[in-house]
Amino acid sequence: MEKACLCVDIGGTKTAFSLFDENDREVFYRAFATQSGQGAENLAERVFDAVSGAMGRYLVERGVIAAPGPLNAEKGVLISPVLLGWRNVAITEIFQKKFGIPFVLLNDCDAGALGVWRYGGYSDVRTLCYITVSTGIGGGTIVNGQLVAGRGNASDFGHIPVAGRKIRCGCGNVDCLELYASGTGIEARYAEKTGKKLCCAAIAECARGGDAAAREIFADASAFLNYALCVLKAVLDPERVVFGGSVCKVGDLLFAGAERAGIPIAFAGQDGKQVLYGALCRSKQMP
Ligand SMILES: [Zn+2]
Repeated sequence: MEKACLCVDIGGTKTAFSLFDENDREVFYRAFATQSGQGAENLAERVFDAVSGAMGRYLVERGVIAAPGPLNAEKGVLISPVLLGWRNVAITEIFQKKFGIPFVLLNDCDAGALGVWRYGGYSDVRTLCYITVSTGIGGGTIVNGQLVAGRGNASDFGHIPVAGRKIRCGCGNVDCLELYASGTGIEARYAEKTGKKLCCAAIAECARGGDAAAREIFADASAFLNYALCVLKAVLDPERVVFGGSVCKVGDLLFAGAERAGIPIAFAGQDGKQVLYGALCRSKQMP
């Protein structure tokens, strides 16, 4: 029987998982609503049920879980991921118990960076920053093939402070980039200005249609994102910044001026599966 590795990407709304064979080919993929309110045991159970059909054909030997932080990768514990509403969940232990195989945990933004670098066509880039713009803004940095970890929270690009309007962020600081340029941030700023609750994609539509409030919010978001890119340029001088995440769909509205910071930018392909590919990359370091 051919050996395979299970990679799981736990997100605030969606959980996606793949089996990869020994030649790094994806042989199984499924995604469903995370339903974090049902708890982590329930999630492990539903992943197990979905994968169990394929497990007859493949010998699944190991698993990697990518999830939003803050987390303790070494202990396999999700500390307090806001997007999931969980506290101190021993996620690897829960999956290990259900599947009977070893699991490891890594930060989903780090996984995205690894996946883009190793499998997305950038493995020859020595300094690469990956920035995901979605519900929040996060990222990962690869230097000479290694993730830059810092003390565990490196590349937290969403919390670069910008010259905003003294809005308090969940992290304790004020005017973090993600308050203005993430999907949630764009939606909140638009609601503040107009009293209307629209999703980010709808606000983008409004901006393209000439809605002054929507245009102003995207102009701010774009300028603040540029500022953060200038910070990146000054500190790391990366050869490439690769963007991923659902807000990339707004295109020019947010990214039109991004290259003005002087860094070549690109968008992740891989059908949005860069986090799963990053988890696969991590699996190579398992014993
Ligand atoms: Zn913050």
